[in-house]
Amino acid sequence: MASPLRYLHGYIMLETAHKTYTLEGFMNDNSMAPVQPERPSTILAPSRQTLSDVRGRPLRDLRISVTDRCNFRCTYCMPKEVFGKDFQFLERSQLLSFGEIHRLVRIFRDHGVEKIRITGGEPLVRRKLERLIEMLAYWDDLDLTLTTNGSLLKQKARDLRNAGLRRITVSLDSLDDPVFKSMNDVDFPVEMVLEGIDAAAAAGFGPIKVNMVVKRGVNEHSVVPMARYFKDRGHILRFIEFMDVGATNGWKMEHVVPSRELVQMINRELPIVPLDPNYRGEVAERWRYKDGAGELGFISSVTHAFCRDCTRARLSAEGQLYTCLFATQGTDFRALLRGEASDDEVSQLISKVWTARSDRYSEIRTAETAKLRKVEMSYIGG
Ligand code: SAM
Repeated sequence: MASPLRYLHGYIMLETAHKTYTLEGFMNDNSMAPVQPERPSTILAPSRQTLSDVRGRPLRDLRISVTDRCNFRCTYCMPKEVFGKDFQFLERSQLLSFGEIHRLVRIFRDHGVEKIRITGGEPLVRRKLERLIEMLAYWDDLDLTLTTNGSLLKQKARDLRNAGLRRITVSLDSLDDPVFKSMNDVDFPVEMVLEGIDAAAAAGFGPIKVNMVVKRGVNEHSVVPMARYFKDRGHILRFIEFMDVGATNGWKMEHVVPSRELVQMINRELPIVPLDPNYRGEVAERWRYKDGAGELGFISSVTHAFCRDCTRARLSAEGQLYTCLFATQGTDFRALLRGEASDDEVSQLISKVWTARSDRYSEIRTAETAKLRKVEMSYIGG
């Protein structure tokens, strides 16, 4: 597909399905440096040249963090003691602009990326995010999705849908208000997240995925009520094992409730049977209720690592590229973009990083590796 960008009288014009925009507004969405027209690619139609890492895994998914900020302080992700008022979040000028993200997506797509997940931090706190969605939705062959804590979804669901967002995942760890409030640690009520989910369904998203992180001794008793609630509503509830991401969440193996145990817990009350994966490398193991009412999933990054099939790269809000959620180091793409690198140069760096990739952290996790100074999930994007 041709690039949606055109150059007119020194401006970058973006053509979407609905409108044509001057990109200045996008480029300046975060008070970024002056608009720099992109240099046209000198690559001779790499036409979706796929890359393989050293373990033969293709590059298929790109998770893009659009901010390292979040309005929640989930105790297992952004504990208040670390992410308090003195914490140094990224400055606006450090964030990739929408124009920069758009350009990277175009080049990643040429390398075989088929799925883009917008995340954070909390992506909906990034101003005018729907404009970025609209820019990326131009490529109708991209599976464009977003993960949110749902707190702002009631207000934003319709605009996101109209902008072309195709799918949405909402995180919710309990239906029990005191438990949820103690987990998000900002006193945010369950009801408002449920209203956000309802608004997303009304805006045409579906099936909506709902992610629940289960932590031993904290919210296991919410597992069956959550399953019961979402079962009949047509949403897909997915249970995530508490992971040792970052270096600040005090992770211990004994906090992990293995998916196996959750399957038994649910099956006792609401009988379930396993389903075949939709595709190779699908993160969640799929199950369905025996009575035919709905599907659920289990993401067992700790007890059943899926590194072998991992096709995901992650871009931080400031343009560092990581090839593993548990990485300690990334590769800077922002410097390249702001240094007027050509598309060829950006493309070559993507190839270099991906073809050298050998990560398989979850397969080799030990109590020792868990102590490494890994990059925080709120920074790299979940
Ligand atoms: N703010 C958005 C949200 O809440 O969905 C997007 C970012 S958040 C980091 C993405 C997902 O990562 C959420 O579903 C969150 O629950 C999950 N997560 C964060 N820390 C985790 C951990 N230590 N173990 C497992 N999942 C975690």
